[in-house]
Amino acid sequence: GSLLAAADLRKVYGPTTALDGAAFSLHPGEIVAVMGPSGSGKSTLLHCLAGIVTPDSGTVTYDGRELSAMTDAGRSALRRSEFGFVFQFGRLVPELTCVENVALPLRLNGTSRREAERAALSWMERLEVADLGRKRPGEVSGGQGQRIAVARALATRPRVLFADEPTGALDSLNGERVMELLTEAARSAGAAVVLVTHEARVAAYSDREVVVRDGRSRDMERLV
Ligand code: ADP
Ligand code: ADP
Repeated sequence: GSLLAAADLRKVYGPTTALDGAAFSLHPGEIVAVMGPSGSGKSTLLHCLAGIVTPDSGTVTYDGRELSAMTDAGRSALRRSEFGFVFQFGRLVPELTCVENVALPLRLNGTSRREAERAALSWMERLEVADLGRKRPGEVSGGQGQRIAVARALATRPRVLFADEPTGALDSLNGERVMELLTEAARSAGAAVVLVTHEARVAAYSDREVVVRDGRSRDMERLV
Protein backbone atom coordinates (compact mmCIF):
# COMPACT_ATOMS: atom_id res chain seq x y z
CA GLY A 1 0.00 0.00 0.00
CA SER A 2 0.88 3.67 0.01
CA LEU A 3 3.14 5.11 2.68
CA LEU A 4 1.78 8.61 2.05
CA ALA A 5 -1.48 9.37 0.25
CA ALA A 6 -3.69 12.37 -0.34
CA ALA A 7 -7.19 12.60 -1.78
CA ASP A 8 -9.33 15.52 -2.88
CA LEU A 9 -7.14 18.22 -1.39
CA ARG A 10 -8.51 21.71 -1.51
CA LYS A 11 -6.77 24.83 -0.22
CA VAL A 12 -7.87 28.42 -0.77
CA TYR A 13 -5.89 31.55 0.10
CA GLY A 14 -8.31 34.48 -0.09
CA PRO A 15 -9.21 34.78 -3.76
CA THR A 16 -6.62 32.18 -4.82
CA THR A 17 -7.42 28.49 -5.13
CA ALA A 18 -4.03 26.84 -4.57
CA LEU A 19 -5.35 23.25 -4.55
CA ASP A 20 -8.57 22.20 -6.22
CA GLY A 21 -9.00 18.45 -5.75
CA ALA A 22 -5.38 17.27 -5.83
CA ALA A 23 -4.52 13.62 -5.18
CA PHE A 24 -1.20 11.97 -4.50
CA SER A 25 0.34 8.67 -3.48
CA LEU A 26 3.83 7.54 -2.58
CA HIS A 27 5.04 3.99 -1.98
CA PRO A 28 7.90 3.12 0.40
CA GLY A 29 11.23 3.93 -1.23
CA GLU A 30 9.63 5.48 -4.30
CA ILE A 31 10.88 8.75 -5.84
CA VAL A 32 8.01 10.82 -7.20
CA ALA A 33 8.44 14.15 -9.00
CA VAL A 34 5.71 16.76 -8.61
CA MET A 35 5.88 18.91 -11.75
CA GLY A 36 4.00 21.88 -13.07
CA PRO A 37 4.36 25.58 -13.83
CA SER A 38 5.02 28.24 -11.21
CA GLY A 39 1.90 28.94 -9.14
CA SER A 40 0.20 25.64 -10.01
CA GLY A 41 0.10 24.44 -6.39
CA LYS A 42 3.18 22.19 -6.11
CA SER A 43 4.57 23.71 -2.90
CA THR A 44 1.13 23.85 -1.31
CA LEU A 45 0.69 20.15 -2.11
CA LEU A 46 4.09 19.37 -0.56
CA HIS A 47 3.25 21.41 2.55
CA CYS A 48 -0.09 19.59 2.94
CA LEU A 49 1.62 16.20 2.53
CA ALA A 50 4.20 17.14 5.18
CA GLY A 51 1.56 18.38 7.62
CA ILE A 52 2.90 21.97 7.50
CA VAL A 53 -0.26 23.36 5.88
CA THR A 54 -3.75 22.12 6.78
CA PRO A 55 -5.95 21.67 3.71
CA ASP A 56 -9.47 23.17 3.80
CA SER A 57 -10.80 19.74 2.83
CA GLY A 58 -9.54 16.37 1.71
CA THR A 59 -7.31 13.87 3.47
CA VAL A 60 -3.62 13.18 3.91
CA THR A 61 -2.75 9.75 5.28
CA TYR A 62 0.74 8.78 6.43
CA ASP A 63 1.35 5.14 7.33
CA GLY A 64 -2.34 4.62 8.03
CA ARG A 65 -2.73 7.75 10.17
CA GLU A 66 -4.76 10.71 8.99
CA LEU A 67 -2.79 13.91 9.61
CA SER A 68 -5.89 16.00 10.34
CA ALA A 69 -6.74 13.67 13.22
CA MET A 70 -3.40 14.38 14.89
CA THR A 71 -2.53 17.32 17.16
CA ASP A 72 -0.03 19.99 16.11
CA ALA A 73 2.47 18.40 18.49
CA GLY A 74 1.79 14.99 16.96
CA ARG A 75 2.37 16.30 13.42
CA SER A 76 5.49 18.07 14.59
CA ALA A 77 6.85 14.87 16.16
CA LEU A 78 6.03 12.99 12.97
CA ARG A 79 7.99 15.51 10.90
CA ARG A 80 11.00 15.25 13.20
CA SER A 81 11.04 11.46 13.33
CA GLU A 82 9.82 10.35 9.90
CA PHE A 83 10.39 13.21 7.45
CA GLY A 84 13.41 15.04 6.08
CA PHE A 85 13.38 18.37 4.21
CA VAL A 86 15.53 20.01 1.56
CA PHE A 87 14.57 23.44 0.20
CA GLN A 88 15.72 25.55 -2.72
CA PHE A 89 18.24 27.33 -0.52
CA GLY A 90 19.99 25.07 1.98
CA ARG A 91 18.84 27.01 5.04
CA LEU A 92 21.95 25.89 6.88
CA VAL A 93 22.65 27.65 10.17
CA PRO A 94 25.38 30.16 9.25
CA GLU A 95 27.01 30.24 12.69
CA LEU A 96 27.56 26.47 12.82
CA THR A 97 30.17 24.48 10.90
CA CYS A 98 28.89 22.21 8.14
CA VAL A 99 29.34 19.07 10.23
CA GLU A 100 27.50 20.72 13.13
CA ASN A 101 24.67 21.59 10.74
CA VAL A 102 24.33 17.98 9.61
CA ALA A 103 24.57 16.75 13.21
CA LEU A 104 21.97 19.25 14.48
CA PRO A 105 18.77 17.22 13.90
CA LEU A 106 20.42 14.21 15.54
CA ARG A 107 21.44 16.35 18.52
CA LEU A 108 17.84 17.60 18.77
CA ASN A 109 16.68 13.97 18.79
CA GLY A 110 18.88 13.31 21.81
CA THR A 111 21.92 11.71 20.14
CA SER A 112 25.24 12.44 21.87
CA ARG A 113 27.52 15.00 20.23
CA ARG A 114 30.18 12.41 19.48
CA GLU A 115 27.74 9.94 17.89
CA ALA A 116 25.86 12.69 15.99
CA GLU A 117 29.08 14.06 14.47
CA ARG A 118 30.27 10.58 13.55
CA ALA A 119 26.95 9.89 11.76
CA ALA A 120 27.00 13.36 10.19
CA LEU A 121 30.45 12.75 8.70
CA SER A 122 29.43 9.41 7.29
CA TRP A 123 26.43 11.05 5.54
CA MET A 124 28.68 13.84 4.30
CA GLU A 125 31.01 11.22 2.82
CA ARG A 126 28.10 9.74 0.87
CA LEU A 127 27.27 13.21 -0.45
CA GLU A 128 30.97 13.82 -1.20
CA VAL A 129 31.27 16.84 1.09
CA ALA A 130 33.09 15.27 4.07
CA ASP A 131 36.12 17.49 3.50
CA LEU A 132 33.96 20.59 4.14
CA GLY A 133 33.04 19.60 7.69
CA ARG A 134 34.89 22.38 9.45
CA LYS A 135 33.85 25.17 7.08
CA ARG A 136 30.86 27.42 7.67
CA PRO A 137 27.97 27.43 5.15
CA GLY A 138 29.10 30.86 3.89
CA GLU A 139 32.40 29.34 2.76
CA VAL A 140 30.98 26.62 0.50
CA SER A 141 29.45 26.76 -2.99
CA GLY A 142 25.72 26.51 -3.72
CA GLY A 143 26.00 22.92 -4.91
CA GLN A 144 28.09 21.91 -1.90
CA GLY A 145 25.60 23.63 0.41
CA GLN A 146 22.73 21.65 -1.12
CA ARG A 147 24.65 18.39 -0.71
CA ILE A 148 25.21 19.29 2.95
CA ALA A 149 21.47 20.03 3.27
CA VAL A 150 20.71 16.58 1.80
CA ALA A 151 23.13 14.94 4.28
CA ARG A 152 21.36 16.79 7.12
CA ALA A 153 17.92 15.73 5.87
CA LEU A 154 18.90 12.05 5.58
CA ALA A 155 20.97 11.79 8.79
CA THR A 156 17.86 11.13 10.89
CA ARG A 157 16.96 8.28 8.48
CA PRO A 158 13.57 9.65 7.46
CA ARG A 159 11.10 7.44 5.59
CA VAL A 160 10.12 10.39 3.39
CA LEU A 161 12.42 13.10 2.06
CA PHE A 162 10.62 16.23 0.88
CA ALA A 163 12.68 18.21 -1.62
CA ASP A 164 11.21 21.52 -2.85
CA GLU A 165 13.16 22.74 -5.91
CA PRO A 166 16.42 21.39 -4.42
CA THR A 167 18.38 22.45 -7.51
CA GLY A 168 16.44 25.64 -8.23
CA ALA A 169 19.35 27.92 -7.34
CA LEU A 170 22.05 25.87 -9.12
CA ASP A 171 23.43 25.77 -12.64
CA SER A 172 22.58 22.61 -14.58
CA LEU A 173 25.89 20.82 -13.97
CA ASN A 174 25.75 21.30 -10.19
CA GLY A 175 22.02 20.56 -10.23
CA GLU A 176 22.58 17.20 -11.92
CA ARG A 177 25.32 16.28 -9.44
CA VAL A 178 23.05 17.14 -6.50
CA MET A 179 20.25 15.03 -8.02
CA GLU A 180 22.57 12.07 -8.68
CA LEU A 181 23.83 12.10 -5.10
CA LEU A 182 20.41 12.87 -3.57
CA THR A 183 18.67 10.00 -5.35
CA GLU A 184 21.55 7.57 -4.73
CA ALA A 185 21.67 8.42 -1.01
CA ALA A 186 17.87 8.32 -0.62
CA ARG A 187 17.71 4.91 -2.34
CA SER A 188 20.47 3.47 -0.19
CA ALA A 189 18.75 4.87 2.92
CA GLY A 190 15.41 3.42 1.79
CA ALA A 191 13.80 6.88 1.95
CA ALA A 192 10.93 7.72 -0.39
CA VAL A 193 11.23 11.16 -2.02
CA VAL A 194 8.66 13.82 -2.91
CA LEU A 195 10.56 15.98 -5.38
CA VAL A 196 8.95 19.29 -6.37
CA THR A 197 10.46 20.73 -9.53
CA HIS A 198 9.46 22.62 -12.65
CA GLU A 199 12.43 21.21 -14.57
CA ALA A 200 12.00 18.07 -16.69
CA ARG A 201 15.68 17.20 -16.39
CA VAL A 202 15.39 17.16 -12.60
CA ALA A 203 12.14 15.15 -12.71
CA ALA A 204 13.97 12.60 -14.88
CA TYR A 205 15.66 11.31 -11.71
CA SER A 206 12.29 10.13 -10.36
CA ASP A 207 10.47 6.81 -10.72
CA ARG A 208 7.18 8.52 -11.53
CA GLU A 209 5.87 11.99 -12.34
CA VAL A 210 2.74 13.73 -11.13
CA VAL A 211 1.77 16.94 -12.89
CA VAL A 212 -0.06 19.71 -11.04
CA ARG A 213 -1.97 22.28 -13.05
CA ASP A 214 -4.31 24.86 -11.53
CA GLY A 215 -4.32 22.95 -8.24
CA ARG A 216 -5.28 19.61 -9.77
CA SER A 217 -2.90 16.69 -10.12
CA ARG A 218 -2.63 13.81 -12.50
CA ASP A 219 -0.20 10.94 -13.07
CA MET A 220 1.91 11.22 -16.18
CA GLU A 221 3.06 8.45 -18.45
CA ARG A 222 6.77 8.84 -19.07
CA LEU A 223 7.13 9.89 -22.67
CA VAL A 224 10.65 8.52 -22.94
P1 ADP B 1 3.98 26.40 -6.96
O1 ADP B 1 4.75 25.72 -5.88
O2 ADP B 1 3.50 25.47 -8.02
O3 ADP B 1 4.70 27.57 -7.52
P2 ADP B 1 2.29 27.30 -4.79
O4 ADP B 1 1.72 26.11 -4.15
O5 ADP B 1 3.44 27.97 -4.13
O6 ADP B 1 2.64 26.96 -6.31
O7 ADP B 1 1.16 28.38 -4.96
C1 ADP B 1 -0.11 28.12 -5.57
C2 ADP B 1 -0.93 29.40 -5.53
O8 ADP B 1 -1.27 29.68 -4.18
C3 ADP B 1 -0.17 30.62 -6.03
O9 ADP B 1 -1.10 31.45 -6.67
C4 ADP B 1 0.35 31.24 -4.75
O10 ADP B 1 0.54 32.62 -4.91
C5 ADP B 1 -0.75 30.93 -3.77
N1 ADP B 1 -0.24 30.80 -2.39
C6 ADP B 1 0.59 29.82 -1.94
N2 ADP B 1 0.85 29.98 -0.64
C7 ADP B 1 0.17 31.10 -0.25
C8 ADP B 1 0.03 31.80 0.99
N3 ADP B 1 0.65 31.38 2.10
N4 ADP B 1 -0.75 32.90 0.99
C9 ADP B 1 -1.38 33.32 -0.12
N5 ADP B 1 -1.30 32.71 -1.31
C10 ADP B 1 -0.52 31.62 -1.39
P1 ADP C 1 10.32 29.70 -2.83
O1 ADP C 1 8.84 29.91 -2.99
O2 ADP C 1 11.13 30.75 -3.49
O3 ADP C 1 10.77 28.30 -3.12
P2 ADP C 1 10.84 29.01 -0.09
O4 ADP C 1 11.47 27.74 -0.51
O5 ADP C 1 11.51 29.84 0.93
O6 ADP C 1 10.58 29.98 -1.29
O7 ADP C 1 9.39 28.71 0.44
C1 ADP C 1 8.53 27.85 -0.23
C2 ADP C 1 7.24 27.81 0.54
O8 ADP C 1 7.51 27.36 1.86
C3 ADP C 1 6.55 29.15 0.66
O9 ADP C 1 5.20 28.99 0.24
C4 ADP C 1 6.62 29.51 2.12
O10 ADP C 1 5.41 30.08 2.56
C5 ADP C 1 6.86 28.18 2.80
N1 ADP C 1 7.77 28.26 3.94
C6 ADP C 1 8.89 28.98 4.03
N2 ADP C 1 9.47 28.80 5.21
C7 ADP C 1 8.71 27.92 5.89
C8 ADP C 1 8.79 27.31 7.16
N3 ADP C 1 9.78 27.57 8.00
N4 ADP C 1 7.82 26.46 7.54
C9 ADP C 1 6.83 26.20 6.70
N5 ADP C 1 6.68 26.73 5.49
C10 ADP C 1 7.60 27.58 5.08
